[in-house]
Amino acid sequence: MDFQESEDILAIRDTLSRFIARECPDSAIQQWEAQDTIPREMSVKLGKLGFSGLCVPEEYGGLGRNVIAMTVVLEELTRCSIALSAIYNMSAGYGGLNISESGTEEQKKRLLPGLLTGEILFAYGLSEPDVGADLANVKTRAERKGDRVIVNGSKRWTSGADVADYIYTLVRSGPVEAKRKNLSFLIIPTNSKGLTITRIPVMGAHGSSTNDVQFQDVEIPFENVVQGEAGWNNAWNILAGPALEIEKLSPSAIALGQAEAAVAEAWAYSQQRVQGGKRICGHQAVRHVLSDVQTKLQACRLMLRHAASLVENRQPSAVATSMAKLFITENAKEIVLACQQYVMGAYGYAHGFNMERYVRDVLVGPIIGGSTAIQRNNIANLMKLPKE
Ligand SMILES: Cc1cc2nc3c(=O)[nH]c(=O)nc-3n(C[C@H](O)[C@H](O)[C@H](O)COP(=O)(O)OP(=O)(O)OC[C@H]3O[C@@H](n4cnc5c(N)ncnc54)[C@H](O)[C@@H]3O)c2cc1C
Repeated sequence: MDFQESEDILAIRDTLSRFIARECPDSAIQQWEAQDTIPREMSVKLGKLGFSGLCVPEEYGGLGRNVIAMTVVLEELTRCSIALSAIYNMSAGYGGLNISESGTEEQKKRLLPGLLTGEILFAYGLSEPDVGADLANVKTRAERKGDRVIVNGSKRWTSGADVADYIYTLVRSGPVEAKRKNLSFLIIPTNSKGLTITRIPVMGAHGSSTNDVQFQDVEIPFENVVQGEAGWNNAWNILAGPALEIEKLSPSAIALGQAEAAVAEAWAYSQQRVQGGKRICGHQAVRHVLSDVQTKLQACRLMLRHAASLVENRQPSAVATSMAKLFITENAKEIVLACQQYVMGAYGYAHGFNMERYVRDVLVGPIIGGSTAIQRNNIANLMKLPKE
């Protein structure tokens, strides 16, 4: 594994840093936070940079399958705001990646052009009121009637559903008893008759809204079944495919970006704040905390790079991606809390300072995208630790 960043990756970081300086002033970030929404035009502006196609094949206008680069984009955007990386993920990840990996030829031709420009946004509808980690139990029902599919049920926590054009929705398409065998993915337009969206207030990740979605006799064409005939009742295989690996890397990259932002803020603050006649960076306790968080950050970066390079090279990666998700989201939480408590003090607790936002945002990482406990289960199972 090469630890040096390639010219391409350095160029991506540079482009994004100039984009953020130009398009994302503090006033805009504060507005996204206060209004809990980010203007759709930010997605189109991001689309113009070309990075929405980092996991879309070149024959469809994308940049190939650049998994490392995609994690770098998520990391850099999150350093600015989780709202920004969330809306990027709605075109590049939920849409671009999933349609590229699993869509039919017709779905790719129809949807990828708009996903590449950031004009089409996808939300991800897996969780339900009674279904979290145990996804094989989804209850939202899809019934096939000729060339139509009728959907009834509800999804919960669907990020960005209120701004999305489509929800990539996991449904039960056959008898419940068959569990994993009778699941399908549907591409459901959010403007469908019978579909309603209600916001759920949450403590952080503002700007990436969290929603309940109800489906009441929502009717879509069969051509919106992911993978078409081959995908009907086959969602478990789609879910467990290569896209899952990147789905574990995305929250890891986001958590890394959050932790980097917090460390940068605490590092700078420690050199301005004077207590006991000297800058607090001169106090040994503060110096040790800042050394520890820099060290943890470096470990997180290396874990993410290792897991992402395995996925990019299509090598066995399930253990590495689970370890990365577990380690980085948990350590990012510790890093941000240490910066807040031991360096920023009261200014890390007050509204209007970035640190308070970072604390609220970082807490979601270990919950979403396969919780910490689920990753621990994965690692022990994949490494064949006997259960008895
Ligand atoms: C801000 C936010 C945004 C979200 N966005 C989306 C989204 O866009 N789309 C989407 O589909 N979902 C989304 N989610 C939902 C998220 O993916 C779920 O919260 C997650 O899957 C866990 O489900 P749960 O919270 O219902 O917990 P549960 O599954 O009910 O688990 C509760 C606790 O029990 C533990 N647990 C459960 N099963 C086991 C087990 N087998 N072994 C050990 N421990 C276990 C869990 O780790 C957890 O600590 C979002 C959630 C939040 C908070």
